[in-house]
This record gives sequence, structure tokens and C-alpha cells, in this order.
Amino acid sequence: MAGERILLVEDAIEVRRFLAESVLASAGYDVLTAANGEEGFTLARDLRPDLVIADYLMTGMTGLEMLAALREAGIALPFILITAEGSEALAVEALRLGVNDYLIKPFDPDDLLAAVARVLREHWTRQITEHIPAQLLAANRQLEQRLRDLDTLVQFGQRVTSTLDLQPVLDHVVQAATAITRAESGILLLADEATGELVLCAATEPQLETGNTRRILVSDSAAGEVMRRGTPLVLTDVHAREIDTDFFFRDLAYVPLLFHSRPIGVLGVANQTASTGFEPATLQLLSVLADFAAIAITNARLHEATVHERDTLDTVLRDTEDAIILVDLQGHVLLCNPAACRTFGLAGEAVIGQSLQAVTDHEGLRELFLKEARTGRLRTTELVVDDGARTLNAHLTFVDGVGKIAVMQDITHLKELDRIKSEFVTTVSHDLRSPLTAILGYLELLRRAGSLNSSQEDFARRIINSVQSITTLITDLLELGKIEAGFDQDREVVVLPPIVESAVEERQHEWEAKQHTMEVELPAALPPVLGHPLRLRQLVSNLLENAIKYTPDGGRVRVTLEANGDFLVLRVADTGIGIPQKDQPYIFDKFYRTDQAIDHYRGTGLGLSIVKSIVEQHHGRIWVDSEPGKGSTFTVMLPAYDSDR
Ligand code: ADP
Repeated sequence: MAGERILLVEDAIEVRRFLAESVLASAGYDVLTAANGEEGFTLARDLRPDLVIADYLMTGMTGLEMLAALREAGIALPFILITAEGSEALAVEALRLGVNDYLIKPFDPDDLLAAVARVLREHWTRQITEHIPAQLLAANRQLEQRLRDLDTLVQFGQRVTSTLDLQPVLDHVVQAATAITRAESGILLLADEATGELVLCAATEPQLETGNTRRILVSDSAAGEVMRRGTPLVLTDVHAREIDTDFFFRDLAYVPLLFHSRPIGVLGVANQTASTGFEPATLQLLSVLADFAAIAITNARLHEATVHERDTLDTVLRDTEDAIILVDLQGHVLLCNPAACRTFGLAGEAVIGQSLQAVTDHEGLRELFLKEARTGRLRTTELVVDDGARTLNAHLTFVDGVGKIAVMQDITHLKELDRIKSEFVTTVSHDLRSPLTAILGYLELLRRAGSLNSSQEDFARRIINSVQSITTLITDLLELGKIEAGFDQDREVVVLPPIVESAVEERQHEWEAKQHTMEVELPAALPPVLGHPLRLRQLVSNLLENAIKYTPDGGRVRVTLEANGDFLVLRVADTGIGIPQKDQPYIFDKFYRTDQAIDHYRGTGLGLSIVKSIVEQHHGRIWVDSEPGKGSTFTVMLPAYDSDR
């Protein structure tokens, strides 16, 4: 370091000038000069230079006398003596008076500079050590220690975030805890929520067995208390005591591992042989470490759980018989399980990331994923595969932010059972008609055979009513059988308003008999639908029949048609008895009737099944909105026919 002020006291002018200008000033020092001891003394006393260099022998006061005078005046300045005569006695005297260095003429200017630098350095060091209070030095040492601890914390953080396996994380935690607290040993206990116990999961002492074997009750242990309270526990200078984990200690500190303020375990450090206690700052660091540890442990656990779940999901997807295909929002395949690959002849991994439309030519599958975008969030359809040998029931779901997933279940055997059942019902229904016709015929003959008394007439009427109920049931069953079997597949372009009008007209005597107000709203320009006119009429007629039937006299029935996007919407609303919420999911099932309907209204429970089948055959949707006592609105959406498509 240069820039310090040096007082050079030398009576030989040449030497003075040379040393002052060519040596010291050139080296960057601020040089004062004096030509004799008296002048040197005055300057040193008044200006207090950082260093005095004085010649020993000068006219008047010698260099040493000047130094002695300064000492006398209580002024201690670093001092270098230069002399032409080097004697033992002078050296001793100089040292006694506190000269810091001693150079004998002639000397190399570099030796002087080296002496100046050394004396100044020693002087500053002495100044620092003499003047900086001991506390500051202690604080400095502490600070250095804290820095080292923080460094350990940082390293710990790096180590635990770079691993996602739980056990290494736990081992790092106890090691870091013992390093930071300078304790002899460390342990880590994690809560087992299922049993309410703490399990020793990591320890620095190899003789402590970790794993499931060592368990501590939360309700009855010091560590458990830390868990329950969520606050640290510190015991110092205890006379060798055994606690929780069967080891003896002199000092012990337990801190809770808190994740979102919820304790998930306890981190402990202990001294077994000598009690050194734990400083508050150290405990604070231990708590910080515990916070890190709780996050790292939770991350590692989440990672383990995620890996486990993913493996389970992989197994399920691999082994399930259901075909599953997931595409992203752009229609690229994200997942295609082995069953789907087998069914649609897709080349496994190779199709991942490809456009589904490009990798399959199965029309039904392509359409399923294409149409969904236009028609709503969930779509169910049947797909025929293996050249008609198998039928799959496909459910397509739109998953927000992910894409679309289709789950396809083989229902070939169910279809076969259904076909056998329908065939059976059709045969039985058909065969029942003949005897019923005979019953009606004979009842008619009975009347003609002679007059019946009033009770006989009453019985005959009841028989006719019952036979008519059975006939309606059989007719409905046969109708349903036909629709479900897909007999009426002929399609033509159908304009709906005239169909609705004729159905309303057909039922006129019924709604008039019940004094209902019938409102019909049919806009002039509506797109047609592609369908079966008779079945569509049956659909409207059945809904109207129910609306009229289930509305007490003097009610209101309203039929409307409107276009909505690519659909035609038919609504049949009434002000009738309504349908309880609990029954609404089932009213389209065969033979399902509400309690109120069973008790007070005649019916077969097949009308809405027929309606639903017709709607499905026309690729439409139907649902009901209803409130008991207020009325019901049945809504049917049918795809509009677009001649351009
Ligand atoms: P049903 O021959 O009993 O009318 P449906 O299949 O047509 O059979 O209807 C099933 C059940 O749904 C009915 O029994 C009735 O409980 C209920 N339901 C249908 N339409 C209406 C309606 N408009 N108002 C109230 N309940 C209705």
C-alpha cells in the first residue's frame, strides 16, 4: 500500500534528497523531510506521520534521542533507524527504544522500501488487533461460522433438489442437520398417518435401525409432543438420559418438519458424550433446514406417488380389454393402448404424435373424433369392427385443456343377447295377438247372444278394457322391437312442421276432452331433417300423448319447433304433474313409470323408450326438464339436413 506519510530525518542533504525523491516519493509515499533531530521531532509531534525514518548520527539530536523524546512525549510512531555504524550496543539500544527496523548504510534502496512496507504492515496489523474490540473479532468469527453454515444449507438445498428418491433425501437431511448444529448425531422421524406413529427413517448413528421396525407413539413421546404442538423442543446438559429412540444424550434438539403448517415429522440432533448446548442462531438454522427438508420430503413422496400411479395407469391401460385412444386438441394421438392398436390395426408407438385422421381409415372412429367438436362434450356411439364381427360401445369425452378421449368397450355379446331377447318378445307378442282377438270376438258374440244384466255388462267392459291394455302393450312392444332391430332404416328428407301439425290434429279429441289449451308454434322457414316420416310422427305423437295425459284438465300444452345451429329443436311442454328429480334419469327406460303414474294413469311405460329409440336412430338427443306440480318440457334435438354435406 502506498500513500502513507513518511517523515525522513537526515542531515546529509544529498542522501535526504535521494531517499525522499528517488526512492520513497517514487514508490508513492507522501514524504516529509527534516534536516536534523530537533526539526524531525517537531514535525513528528505536530504532523503525526505514519512512519519516521531517521538517521542515527546527526548534528544536534541523534535519531535515537529524537525517538526517545517522542516516546517521552507519549507519541508512538513506527520508526526505522538508518546508520553508518552498525554496532551491537547501538542495535540493542535501538530495540530497547522500540525501533521497528534498523538499516546500515550503505543499503540498497529496495531494502529500504521492503523495510518501510514491512514496518507499516506490522504497524497496521498491530493497530487493528490492538484497537478492534475482542467482541468484534468474536462476532466476526461467528459470522464466518454462519456463512459456513449457510453454505452448508445452500449445498443441502442443491443436493436435495437434485434427487427425487426419498431415502437419499432423508439421509442428506440428517447429515446436514448434524453438520449445521455441530451435534454428534442426528435422526429423522416421519409420521405414519395410518397408525398415528412416528417411524425412524434416517439416522447418522449406524446402530439405530431405520425403517418400519422402530416406531414411536405420537401420543406418548417427546418427539410426538413436538409433532402435536408443531414447536421445537430443546433439552441441554441433561444427565445422560434415554429418550424415544433408546439412545442416551446430554443435549437434544427436536424441530418439527412443517409442510403448509402441518407437521409431517420430526428432525432431531443430539450430543451423547459432551454437552455443548445449542445456540439460538443454530436452532434457527435447524428450523430453516427443517422447512427445506419438509418441502424436499413432500416433493420426493409426491414423486414416488406419481411414479407409482403412472405405473398403475400404464398397467391398467396395457392390460384392459377396452380400447382407449386419447388425442390432443389438434387431433394428434397422445395415447393408444394395445387393445385399441389391435382393434383398429394401429402401429403402436409409431402413431403417437400423428394425426388420428391420417393413421386410421375406420370411418366410424374418424367420425367419432370429428363430430365431437361440433356436437357437444360427450358422445356415445357404436362402432362396428372386424368386418362386422364385433361391436364396440364408444364413449368420447372432451377433456378441457387436454383433448378428447374415447373408451371403447366390446359389446358384441350384449348385442347378441339383445337381438335374441327382441326376437323372443316379437314372437311372443305376435302369438298373443291371436288369442286376444278371439277374446274380443267372443265378448262381442256374448252381447249378441242375448242381453246382459248390468253386472255382466260391467264385467264385459272391464274385460274389454284389460284386453285393450294388453293389446296396446303388445303393439308398443312390437313397435319397439322393430325400431330397435333397425327395420325402418329408409331415410328421406322430411319437413317437420306438417308432421307436428298432423300429430296435434290426431290427438285433438284427447286434448279437447280434457279442455287443454293447445299452443303450436312452427316457424315458416325451417331446414328439413333426414329421417323416417312415420317414426318421426310417432315420436311427436307419443310426447303429445304424455303431455295431454299427465296434465290435469284445463291445462296447457305447447309444441314448438325452431332451428338452432345445425339442429332442429322440438319442445313439448305441459303444465302437468311433472316428474320428480329422482325419476328423471329412468323415465326413458323400458317399463319405468313414476309412482304417481302407476297409481293414477293408464300406461305401459314403453312410450318414452320408443321415443328415445327413434331419436337415437336419427342421431339426435332427448332430455327432460321438469318440476313436480309445475309441468314438464321434453326437448328433442335432431340434426338438420344439409344438402351440401
Ligand atoms: P307411460 O305409458 O307410463 O306414459 P312412458 O314411457 O310414455 O310410459 O312414460 C314413462 C313415465 O314417464 C310415465 O309413466 C310418467 O311417469 C312419466 N312421464 C312421461 N311423460 C310425462 C309428462 N309429460 N308429465 C309427467 N310425467 C310424464
